[in-house]
Amino acid sequence: MSQALDPVLQVALDVPLPRLFDYRGSAEIVPGSLVRVPFGKGVKTGVVVAVAAQSDQPADKLKAVEAVLAVTPLPSDWLALCEFVSRYYQHPLGGVMSLALPPLLRQGKLPRKLKEKPAGGAETVLPVMPVMLDEQVVAVAAISAASGFAPFLLHGITGSGKTEVYLRAIATVLERGGQAMMLVPEIALTPQLEGRVAARFPQARIAIAHSGVADAGRTRGFLDAHAGRADIVLGTRLAVFMPLPRLQLIVIDEEHDGSFKQQEGLRYSARDVAVFRAKQRGVPIVLGSATPSLETFHHATSGRYRLLELTRRAVAEAPPRVAVVDTRREKLQDGMSAALLAAMSERLQRGEQSLIFLNRRGYAPVLACPACGWISGCRRCAANLVVHLADRRLRCHHCGLEAGIPRACPDCGNVDIHPFGRGTQRLEAALSERFPEARILRIDRDSASTPVKWAALLDAIHEGSADILVGTQMLAKGHDFPKLTLVGVAGADAALFAADFRAPERLFAQLMQVGGRSGRAALAGEVLIQTEYPSHPLYQALIAHDYAAFAAAQLAEREQAGFPPYVFQALLRAEAKQLDDALAFLAAARESALALGGSVTLYDPVPMRLFRKMTLERAQLLVESASRPALQAFLTSWVAGLYNQKTPRDLRWHVDVDPLEF
Ligand code: ADP
Ligand code: ZN
Ligand code: ZN
Repeated sequence: MSQALDPVLQVALDVPLPRLFDYRGSAEIVPGSLVRVPFGKGVKTGVVVAVAAQSDQPADKLKAVEAVLAVTPLPSDWLALCEFVSRYYQHPLGGVMSLALPPLLRQGKLPRKLKEKPAGGAETVLPVMPVMLDEQVVAVAAISAASGFAPFLLHGITGSGKTEVYLRAIATVLERGGQAMMLVPEIALTPQLEGRVAARFPQARIAIAHSGVADAGRTRGFLDAHAGRADIVLGTRLAVFMPLPRLQLIVIDEEHDGSFKQQEGLRYSARDVAVFRAKQRGVPIVLGSATPSLETFHHATSGRYRLLELTRRAVAEAPPRVAVVDTRREKLQDGMSAALLAAMSERLQRGEQSLIFLNRRGYAPVLACPACGWISGCRRCAANLVVHLADRRLRCHHCGLEAGIPRACPDCGNVDIHPFGRGTQRLEAALSERFPEARILRIDRDSASTPVKWAALLDAIHEGSADILVGTQMLAKGHDFPKLTLVGVAGADAALFAADFRAPERLFAQLMQVGGRSGRAALAGEVLIQTEYPSHPLYQALIAHDYAAFAAAQLAEREQAGFPPYVFQALLRAEAKQLDDALAFLAAARESALALGGSVTLYDPVPMRLFRKMTLERAQLLVESASRPALQAFLTSWVAGLYNQKTPRDLRWHVDVDPLEF
């Protein structure tokens, strides 16, 4: 009899179904508890979302919870955060919570020992702090004076002292007994920043959260934050889910960076989730960037976010001089103009560093046979195999497929087959022939494939034991190279006319960032951009260091064309062995959408640009609305129906809300 009175627990489990599961519990289990429950033939860990008096299922069918983890139940704002993310991104709640929990808790385990705060006091050295510039003072004062939800855009070029502003704002929060959360785009950047934050706050407990931290460490950091022991959470996008009882400030550095959006599974934007969180908790949030996303800039110019500007560099005297090199009437040598080569020679003579930016790794994008037209395609993807001459392999950058470099054309036997186009390896080879005395370093995901290799490359650059750097956008991010005075940009024009409407925004950000690497110490910097479109407004804005002009022009174009941020988008994507199956699923989904009505625009299902990946054919359907709530309401009822739609067994589908890639 007593069993019937046991409360029913509604538990979120990581299974691909948009529902909760009922279990029999006991009186002491509350929402937010982590529980181990029987599921199918095994046991799963889940989060208790609600406690009910009874279940829709017959009482004798209900299984009992097996164990409760010895963790303080997660707070209601954490549950509400996960529920928001589940609703907004159309992803099952159990999946969201599983991602939001650290690795050990997800498996129902606890780390062995919770870290004690290191002994400090007497030995700690007081950090040296620069005297703030006027604009920094204004920014810190505005952030520290904010009460309740207050979004800020901190706009300033690299080196203008944004990080210093974050640190001062965090200091105020810590003095008031609060917790601060700071998110950065990539693990590669966190060691530098970790050092700087730790040096500034020797007394604070800092929880580091990114995929490079071992499972136990991440779990401890999560529990430290949850218990209020950690003062600062510093991490990549996944840190946005850390529970923080005393949260008083959120900082998103490089807010425009695409890596804040997860591109698989739960396709969330950590920046957007952070803004929701700041609103939910009633705290200020600072979004910092030299090249804000147009979404964020639009908010700042329309008054929804407050704009704080840092207009000059904190240390170097002047920003780099940016110029274009018109290559229309010139025969390039290995892709480089006479002007760029001359500028490099000068740097070599003066013992300074040059950097050539080419955002394409490998030796050449494709191997081809001029006799019959054969090209090195990937048999699993709608993409070419890239020539990697360094280890003599052909490699697919989408699925990882590898093959040896054939000695003759596989189709016609012609031995005279060639690599076409140019990647970083080819540029490196050409430069070492042209400047045999120079020490050349290539920096891309091949040469910096591990954190150790990456750190060694950075050390070499800092020590000045390299004269010429050849690299992809890896080099563009947050590194201070004191001897670098020249940045050359080879072949960026394609992005000006790409089908992707976000390509110019990305190009502008990359070139600003890579240009910002030069002239950071006492030496003045120069940026040379080779182009066949020297008067293009994007390049002209770079020359004038005028992000605002570029952003205004782009926003005007977007408004005219009806692109974000003036409309809100979602994609339904499907993949299957047969393209027709994927398209048929989307067509049926479109029919069911039409039946629902609502003020959304539905486009036709189309194959994706990369229409085959890992042998799966991929197609998508775009949905748009000028109103975010209208789009959300539509998606909620539409996606609920999709779970019941009949699909071929091998078909997979997902929804991507606010997609960045098409
Ligand atoms: P950003 O984050 O905008 O790239 P940082 O905050 O890292 O800029 O500042 C760039 C450099 O200038 C750092 O070495 C920093 O210590 C220094 N710096 C920042 N603010 C000041 C200041 N007010 N006076 C002197 N140096 C400063
Ligand atoms: Zn051939
Ligand atoms: Zn492939």
